[in-house]
Amino acid sequence: MAILVAGGAGYIGSHMVKDLLANGEEVVVADNLSTGHRKAVDPRAKFYIGDIRDRAFLDQIFINEDIKAVVHFAAFSIVPESMSEPLKYFDNNTGGMITLLEAMRDFKVKYIVFSSTAATYGVPEHMPIKETDPQKPINPYGLSKLMMEHMMAWADSAYGVKFVALRYFNVAGAAPDGSIGEDHGPETHLVPIIMQVAQGKRAELSIFGDDYNTPDGTNVRDYVHVMDLADAHLLALKYLFAGNESNAFNLGSSTGFSNKQMLEAAREVTGKPIPAKMAPRRPGDPDSLVAASDKARNVLGWKPKYDDVHDIIATAWKWHESHPQGYNDRN
Ligand code: UDP
Repeated sequence: MAILVAGGAGYIGSHMVKDLLANGEEVVVADNLSTGHRKAVDPRAKFYIGDIRDRAFLDQIFINEDIKAVVHFAAFSIVPESMSEPLKYFDNNTGGMITLLEAMRDFKVKYIVFSSTAATYGVPEHMPIKETDPQKPINPYGLSKLMMEHMMAWADSAYGVKFVALRYFNVAGAAPDGSIGEDHGPETHLVPIIMQVAQGKRAELSIFGDDYNTPDGTNVRDYVHVMDLADAHLLALKYLFAGNESNAFNLGSSTGFSNKQMLEAAREVTGKPIPAKMAPRRPGDPDSLVAASDKARNVLGWKPKYDDVHDIIATAWKWHESHPQGYNDRN
């Protein structure tokens, strides 16, 4: 029986595919390649190109393959884009979940591990953020993912589809062997942008806002290595297969780093000057987002291997240095 990875050609999904294969699982990938890359998908996985909102496409997969669980990454994830194009997010993210859950119900696939996000919490009332804290998103991206969490809960009570929602904080880094990594077009995320400046592909980093209510005025975020994140999904699958109830877990390091601290760490890791300037705030950014992640550690037995942002940045740097044009598969 196989695990279906929806969005397996994307940044996190492709690392998940690698991790599943390394753990002896059979893997089927579904991806429409709207933001993902064919070259990111390990050739040992069976690859279906199509859109999860397309019920006929999903039926073809569930008819052909013996799927025991779905790991769902197929979504748009750029906060500022969601502010300017909210309906695109509700259509692809929230709409995609409807079709996927309907197909799972009909084909009696009972388990789903879902990439949720810290953005479902909105502006946190206290730090670090606990899973039981109020979820009041302040951008359409966060709301689209919160709606997906709610849909899974109702699909559980009506059809018995069990889920684990993993609320990611900031994901960074790459496979330690440098074979796959982060390549978005256009790139919007902090770490890959800093890497591109270090490579000389961009003139400078713009730091979005230095008047936030944080120690140095720049946003504070909690960075997790992409392979540690993939490991958490493996543990979540194990948790579901063991017959446990649906649940939600934060995935973070429990340590916050400001944008200025990230820049400094990247200068140390790369040995490059990395010019930077202050720029206006970006809409939709809360001051700080730091996870309480003891629930994932205690219940799932999650033990992140990367507990230093320097090590996380070092793996990102290895990928960027060895792939200066990324996957280079855009026309
Ligand atoms: N950021 C920045 N300059 C950039 C890209 C991002 O200052 O060119 C900041 C952004 O405002 C936020 C942090 O870096 O405070 C992380 O943003 P990213 O887009 O990487 O992830 P998000 O928190 O939106 O998931």
